Amino acid sequence: MRLVTDSPRETFELGVRIGKGLTAGAIICLSGELGAGKTALTQGIAKGLEVEDYITSPTYTIVNEYQGRLPLYHFDVYRLENEEELYEIGFDEYLERGGVIIIEWASIIEDALPHEHLWITIERGEGLDQRVLHFHSRGKLYEELLKELSQ
Ligand code: ADP
Ligand code: MG
Repeated sequence: MRLVTDSPRETFELGVRIGKGLTAGAIICLSGELGAGKTALTQGIAKGLEVEDYITSPTYTIVNEYQGRLPLYHFDVYRLENEEELYEIGFDEYLERGGVIIIEWASIIEDALPHEHLWITIERGEGLDQRVLHFHSRGKLYEELLKELSQ
């Protein structure tokens, strides 16, 4: 599935709809170049999860934790040097905690990802403010959500 947004606000609102539909254990993988809108989408998802804090890319800390109606673990793995570092920060434990996991630059750790996840690739569209979001559902958890989003 593919959706087009024409402003940061629209991407945020799309994120809110995604966030409202997520359940415990959801894993959202984001890819797309710098400035694609991964964090903008994440901010919307956080809002949909009723997180009240302001979300920024955890580029230096790798992971930030928030509390909403579910815990949110927001990863940005851009600066990870290798997969070992991922285990050092306790990625495996995060997977067991029953929260929602969002990973910016997920393709860097593709081999370490659980089988079931929602993959969203964001590309630039026409003009400065258009973005094209490609959704790939890997696992049943996300099929219902994608159906809702496409309506
Ligand atoms: P990333 O996390 O992928 O590096 P950010 O979300 O931090 O990207 O930044 C996206 C940038 O693109 C912001 O400056 C935002 O204002 C701008 N932008 C323009 N159009 C859009 C859009 N349709 N959706 C999301 N961001 C957009
Ligand atoms: Mg970012």
